[in-house]
Amino acid sequence: MTIDPLYLVQLFDTQLMKTCPKFTFGVGDRFAHGAHAQLQAFIAAKELGIDICPTWNKSNREHEIIGSEPQSTRDAADKAVADLTWEGEYLLDADHINLTTVDRFVAPCNFFTLDVADDIGAAADAADIEAFIENHPELIGSISIEGIEKPLEISRDLVKQTANQFLKATQKAKAIYDHIVSAKGGIDDFVTEISMDETDKPQVPAEMLIILAAIADQGIPIQTIAPKFTGRFNKGVDYVGDVAQFEQEFNDDLSVLAHAIKTYGLPETLKLSVHSGSDKFSIYEPIKKAITRTGAGLHIKTAGTNWLEEVIGLATAGGDGLELAKEIYAKALEKKEALCEPYATVIDIDHSKLPPIEEVNAWSSEQYVSALTHDQSNPAYNPNVRQLLHVGFKIAAQMGDRYLDALKTNEEIISQCVTNNLLERHMKPLFA
Ligand SMILES: [Zn+2]
Repeated sequence: MTIDPLYLVQLFDTQLMKTCPKFTFGVGDRFAHGAHAQLQAFIAAKELGIDICPTWNKSNREHEIIGSEPQSTRDAADKAVADLTWEGEYLLDADHINLTTVDRFVAPCNFFTLDVADDIGAAADAADIEAFIENHPELIGSISIEGIEKPLEISRDLVKQTANQFLKATQKAKAIYDHIVSAKGGIDDFVTEISMDETDKPQVPAEMLIILAAIADQGIPIQTIAPKFTGRFNKGVDYVGDVAQFEQEFNDDLSVLAHAIKTYGLPETLKLSVHSGSDKFSIYEPIKKAITRTGAGLHIKTAGTNWLEEVIGLATAGGDGLELAKEIYAKALEKKEALCEPYATVIDIDHSKLPPIEEVNAWSSEQYVSALTHDQSNPAYNPNVRQLLHVGFKIAAQMGDRYLDALKTNEEIISQCVTNNLLERHMKPLFA
């Protein structure tokens, strides 16, 4: 049996669904002290004509490491929005959640990143795979997609392989989606994202198309999808990979999304999500070119860079602030194995280039700030220090009030760092 695409269109009741704004920008506020400074960046961007929707995201893993609750991120965001009279939309992203972790995110969040990475590669029911292939003859053969030079050549085998790889994951996404809807009293008033970035292999355009067909079959009103792109997205440092290849892939994915929206009746607002791991400056230009050329939307996440700006602010302040920043480095170095372990696949630290504690303890403010600030033109910038501290926020969490009090004492200087970093290094290069 062939499913008429028009029939699929009717599966999506987009009347209640919360429509995702065109440009959404994910910020992380690990210690729930940065929302005001972050929102200032959005306000400054808006004054420049850049209309982006703040999206506070914090994953379950980050909440666990810090010992915080999702409601605290919501409270900090609400307060910033009220204090600064932000009248635009803003979102709270339950980042990388699954069936076992979603519950405490349901009330405070209105954006859900369904993480199906664990189910990618898990076998779906053989009958479901067969049914999927039977229902989608349009996926097999030579498929012309506007914007992609050569037609995609998709064999029955590739459909089967991809279904084997991803069908179970889309079924799981549906189960999480249904669970959230029912926990919200039967109402879908949120943005749904599906993330597949925390996997081993990038998804090629043909796979992306097959995955989107499967998501449409499940009736998930997906508005953003985070594929795994080619290259390395290490935490807090620049992209490592072939930028030209990334650009090709990103553009092809945009074309596939547009095609899937038309063919499978997925929400018009469906867009790509880049889980950047912060600071992928060298791919900002190609992303900007692509969204400008096509008019496509974008969701970009840059969470951890905000916590690093807090440390940079402390170091800049000198005195006790600098001492605390040094203590954070010393403890992070002592516990580097444990800190790096959960992030092993998304960091590349050359341990021989991590300066010893004694050396860092002798640093001036300027030396500390130069080593940590992501300025590749500065020879003193040390990406190894930056990655270690990026994953080292647990150290600050363990300091408890000492750390939080230091944030308060040095609020002005830290806020400047947080706002400037977002505006100058991220928003302007991507959207201006
Ligand atoms: Zn991610």
